[in-house]
Amino acid sequence: MNLPTPPLPTPDDVIAAARLLAGVAHRTPILRSTTIDRLFGARLYFKCENLQRTGSFKFRGAYCALAQFDEAQRERGVLAAAGDNHAQAVALAAREHDIPALLVMPQDTAVTTLEAARGYGAQVVTYDRASEDPERLVQRLAADRGMRVIPAADHLQMIAGHGTATLELLQEVPRLDYLFVPVGSGALLAGSLLAVRAARSACELFGVEPEAGEHARQSLQAGRIITVGQPRTIADAAQARALAPLAFEVIRAAAAPRMLGASDPQLLDALRFFAQRMKLLVEPTGALAFAGAREGGIDLHGKRVGIIVSGGNADLPRYARFISD
Ligand SMILES: *Cc1c(COP(=O)(O)O)cnc(C)c1O
Repeated sequence: MNLPTPPLPTPDDVIAAARLLAGVAHRTPILRSTTIDRLFGARLYFKCENLQRTGSFKFRGAYCALAQFDEAQRERGVLAAAGDNHAQAVALAAREHDIPALLVMPQDTAVTTLEAARGYGAQVVTYDRASEDPERLVQRLAADRGMRVIPAADHLQMIAGHGTATLELLQEVPRLDYLFVPVGSGALLAGSLLAVRAARSACELFGVEPEAGEHARQSLQAGRIITVGQPRTIADAAQARALAPLAFEVIRAAAAPRMLGASDPQLLDALRFFAQRMKLLVEPTGALAFAGAREGGIDLHGKRVGIIVSGGNADLPRYARFISD
């Protein structure tokens, strides 16, 4: 049986998402530094989603996804699993929409993340990574409570909402030549590609994924989704094993952007660079795009280069070790 293919998000969806997010999501700052520009012989524009509400761009898509709920769904609530940043984003978005939220998170989730989610009014159910399958738990809870599950990436509104970060950047820096975007499940990259079209920009995109996995590069080469073993990397918000199907379709349709890999040592260097040169607290995954721009072998000379700094939710003791090593 062929399942009906879901509609692909379009550039207009990104524009609609931007309208929805006006006054709700922060229009995050775009930072520059003359020292850094001199170092690179290029003009670098850092779009600081580490300063977004909940500390990552994920709030953008989550808010847009919840805006689609009808009255009955709003009453029953939203359920989300997966990464810390997605969970926090759904928790805050649910509070903003006045929708009850239930989050399924691993027992070993950082206390600060659990506290943040509860602080936004979400209920949290924890599970044991070693013995429990979160997917099953989520399906059971969703069935029991009639709650709607919001995936972190395989969702039209997630892709459209995430694309608004790039749309803002292109509106403020009209003639950008290159844009570097981190890649896990590919929703942010897919949204960014749509934003480039929405802004009628000629900007060239580069996706940067952890070198330990590189499933996106392999998938684009193969023309189908390739699943890898869980990548071992400090970029924990990009540890996806494969692209989300909807994101893959968008990326493939967009004359596939070039893919780069970044190693953990390159991410550590980038974290130190952010801390020292820009006074920015960035989580390892948030440094992927910059690491790719800096060490991916692309000639940046004379170019206007955008970098998506995607998140800043670092566990502090761990972060302190990272920047002091
Ligand atoms: C989720 C996330 C990513 C990767 O985004 P995808 O849409 O999964 O590719 C990158 N950086 C941060 C900080 C994230 O939270």
